[in-house]
Amino acid sequence: MTRQQIQPPRGMNDVLPVHTPAWQQLEGMARALFSAYGYQEIRVPIVEYTALFKRSIGEYTDIVQKEMFTFEDPGGDSLTLRPEATAGIVRAMISNGLLHNQRHRVWCAGPMFRHEKPQRGRFRQFHQIDVEAFGYAGPDIDAEQIMLSARLLRRTGVRRLTLNLNSLGTAESRRGYRDKLVAYFGAHKSRLDADSLRRLEGNPLRILDSKNPDLQDLIAAAPLLTESLDEASRQHFDGVCRHLDAVGIDYVVNPRLVRGLDYYSHTVFEWLTTELGSQGAVCSGGRYDGLVTQLGGEPTPAVGWAMGQERIVELLRVQHGDPSAAAPDAYLVIAGAAAEAQGLMLAERLRDACPKLRLEVNCGGGSFKSQLKRADKSGARWAIILGDMETDRRVAGLKSLRVEAPQVEIGWDELPQELTKRLD
Ligand code: ATP
Ligand code: MG
Repeated sequence: MTRQQIQPPRGMNDVLPVHTPAWQQLEGMARALFSAYGYQEIRVPIVEYTALFKRSIGEYTDIVQKEMFTFEDPGGDSLTLRPEATAGIVRAMISNGLLHNQRHRVWCAGPMFRHEKPQRGRFRQFHQIDVEAFGYAGPDIDAEQIMLSARLLRRTGVRRLTLNLNSLGTAESRRGYRDKLVAYFGAHKSRLDADSLRRLEGNPLRILDSKNPDLQDLIAAAPLLTESLDEASRQHFDGVCRHLDAVGIDYVVNPRLVRGLDYYSHTVFEWLTTELGSQGAVCSGGRYDGLVTQLGGEPTPAVGWAMGQERIVELLRVQHGDPSAAAPDAYLVIAGAAAEAQGLMLAERLRDACPKLRLEVNCGGGSFKSQLKRADKSGARWAIILGDMETDRRVAGLKSLRVEAPQVEIGWDELPQELTKRLD
């Protein structure tokens, strides 16, 4: 392999230290909010049996038909890298017997894999933050989850997002609509592309989700699902809307919104941006009451959403620039043989005594001058200076790097107290 050939797999990215602060902020905010809303973390495998995704996501989806990273393991089993989190989480709830007469609110975060054409905001390994609730049938939890997503998005600082909302109704109310759609698109077969023709047989609703620009007027004139909703579906949807109205969350009812995955029912929603090219969705979700039984569990209502971390981080970068990593509070300069013998020990003592202190130690030696340059570059507020003379006398110099102030000399035993005082 030549040097130039060493690249990550196509569509899979390294997140370098200069970029991780944005990720950490998003994940930290999400974690704090999930805990505040009573959601608990669940961690599930990154690979599952391929059959799980076929059964849950559906044979007629792009994901199952062309986007899965599937391989045979050494034992001959077909495994697939998870393209989304919901299937694995539902599998885990069933496998662990967590659904019988129980309610759960859970969250999960991590990498997902889809063999798509890589472009801005669309990758083959990407990351999602995901929430799911099991055992709640009413519109209140749908609304609560949307409120949670709204609060998280607001807290990150992303701007100019639009919430699109729709109802897919119950499976029964969709059946009648399905027939109407088959009749409609069937009458325009010559205009459909290969994907849509395939969907016409398997899952005509998915044609509405097509991104093909040539199909957009045909789709715009298709019959609306909203007109086929039964009374119960309508009431559920009105309930969601009322809760959102009550807390002042703006939304657009978009009767064309259908989700890419087959298992949704009732509420579906998407947070959209116009600032990432054609990758508009930053967070999508909805109710999927039928999925648990579809996977062999007992009937359990469920609702959830997933947020694309790459898209949020990219939007934040476009709108606010990259946040920088937290600089150390202090940088320990260690010059001379005696100082080197004692420097790490002093650093550990300071860490024992000041747990909040962010202290970067100059490892690897160097002159006073070059170490002070590194101290300055680190962004630290102070340099703690330890030469042989200081070491002999068990003192250290404390030099302010950001404001004009005389350097002071402080005994090792007094140093923790002095630093703590300055940190507050
Ligand atoms: P899209 O319409 O953009 O393909 P999707 O409907 O396939 O999105 P979901 O399966 O609902 O997306 O996944 C939830 C979120 O994950 C999306 O809203 C998006 O932010 C993000 N996402 C999906 N696919 C990718 C990808 N290939 N790369 C980066 N983020 C993605
Ligand atoms: Mg997709």
